[in-house]
Amino acid sequence: MKTLIEATHLKFNYGQKSVLKDISFRVNSGEIIGLIGENGAGKTTLLNILLGLYPTTGDVVLFGKQPGSKVGKAHIGSMLQTDMVIQGVTVSELLAEIASCYETSFSPEQLIKELHLTTFAKERLTNLSGGQLRQVTFAIALIGNPDLLFLDEPTVGMDVQARQSFWHRIRLLKQQGKTIVITSHYLNEIQEVADRILVMKNGQFIFQGSFNDLQNQHQRVEIVFQTERASDVFKVLPHVTEINKSDGNIHIRSTDGDATLYALMKNFKHLHQITVTRESLETIFVQLTNQEVK
Ligand code: ADP
Repeated sequence: MKTLIEATHLKFNYGQKSVLKDISFRVNSGEIIGLIGENGAGKTTLLNILLGLYPTTGDVVLFGKQPGSKVGKAHIGSMLQTDMVIQGVTVSELLAEIASCYETSFSPEQLIKELHLTTFAKERLTNLSGGQLRQVTFAIALIGNPDLLFLDEPTVGMDVQARQSFWHRIRLLKQQGKTIVITSHYLNEIQEVADRILVMKNGQFIFQGSFNDLQNQHQRVEIVFQTERASDVFKVLPHVTEINKSDGNIHIRSTDGDATLYALMKNFKHLHQITVTRESLETIFVQLTNQEVK
């Protein structure tokens, strides 16, 4: 898989305050990365560095170039937390103006239609709600048809329809092979779409991997079923960390739910009412971020 972003030993200070503390990570082409962390963890600072807006020590390369390079910029679309509000300008005027800055871009009309902005396309930006402004900012990020998108809290203030339409678009972009780095506090949404999750705390990554890895690492997959058999016979199953029996139900905790379930179904018969419970990203995240970072 092609590496699109590679960062090694990134550090960043605001004055005396150390905000990013020796961060290393990579993003592969076509991946959706969920960058999550509590407020103040350093997510926005990291995005600003990747966009070339802040200087840093350590190595960062995007498309084989330094952040902020002309080549990189042509391939990147970004949606930061502040929306562009220009007095007296309408949504369609703004999009047309920005589209004219690109050699190849989506037609503003097409984007307005596809992103469901039609009902307020003729409105002035100053008359829009916070959620509508986020939708316009998303359209701005997309208009140059970028290969890499940085989206910082994109869905804040969006209503349910706008949010659904946003995630639908993200899935389409993924199908088109685009690479997306997205921060959000809506962890159930990140859980659905992210190929990998980077969890940041106090300027460090405390986890990098898939949601599946995270669940397995935290032994958060529980398989429950009914059987007449004694609990001991299930000890042969792979990746099992705990087995209990209560009221005829066997409860198995596993570090690899998929592998355990596969072996269970293959080797044991007469099991009833099998359920597999996977904890949500939000639940695991709270536990993970409450642990001390060494
Ligand atoms: P996040 O996006 O994860 O909420 P930020 O990157 O915005 O975190 O902030 C990381 C840390 O840097 C926080 O402690 C924040 O207070 C601090 N910070 C952010 N911007 C500035 C600034 N312009 N000057 C000084 N400190 C800042």
